[in-house]
Order: sequence, then structure tokens, then C-alpha cells
Amino acid sequence: MADCVFCKIIKKELNSETVFETENLIAIKDIHPKAPVHLLVIPKKHILSVHTLTASDEKLLGEMIFTAKELAEKHGVGKSGYKLLFNVGEDGGQTVPHLHLHIMGGRQLGE
Ligand code: 5GP
Ligand code: ZN
Repeated sequence: MADCVFCKIIKKELNSETVFETENLIAIKDIHPKAPVHLLVIPKKHILSVHTLTASDEKLLGEMIFTAKELAEKHGVGKSGYKLLFNVGEDGGQTVPHLHLHIMGGRQLGE
């Protein structure tokens, strides 16, 4: 999508701190981190949100979660723990309409 900020990051039209990339997804540092470790795992396919996922996206979703676990370990929060979060839609607090999985860790996030 031409006006989507994450699509622009994926196409390298916008800068971001990329920490991991495969054929299907990219992981970047969040520009406004809410925790010492705050990464976003973003599929390259423009999917609006969890709520528009289809059965054909199941494998991609598994890849996103597995990548999140690997990145949490790599960024030093595997042992201390971390939060994985999908915000969905307006009331869910989603501000970027392109599916993304937050990885947050490095402080107590139990609330
Ligand atoms: P949401 O609120 O939609 O679940 O999360 C969107 C996240 O994307 C926010 O945490 C926000 O800080 C981050 N974000 C928005 N624009 C950019 C950007 O241009 N670059 C990066 N690295 N993160 C962004
Ligand atoms: Zn997009």
C-alpha cells in the first residue's frame, strides 16, 4: 500500500533500524520504545490486522511468533521474559494499519 508507513519501511523508502529480515518478514526497532527492548515483527505482505487474517496466513503467523522468540533471545530478554502484543483496531490501540507483533522486554511488563 503506497501510503502505509510499514510498506515504505519494507521497500526501504523510509529508514528504520532493521534487526532481522527474511523473504516474508522484517523486524525493526520501534521508533518510540516503550521498554528497553521494543521490536516489531512485520510481515512483508500488507495485512491490515489480526482481524483480517485468513487461513492462508497461518504459516506466516507462525513464522512471526517463532521469529519473535528467536529475537527475544538474541536481544537478551529470553530468560527475564517479555511481552508479545498485537493491537487490533481502534479500541485495541492499533495506530499503524499493517499487521505487526510487538516484542517488549527489559523491564517488568506484567500489568
Ligand atoms: P500500534 O500502536 O499500531 O500497535 O504500533 C505501532 C508502532 O509502530 C508504535 O509503537 C510506533 O512507535 C511504531 N512506529 C510508527 N511509525 C514508525 C516508524 O516510522 N518507524 C518505526 N521504527 N516505528 C514506527
Ligand atoms: Zn503496509
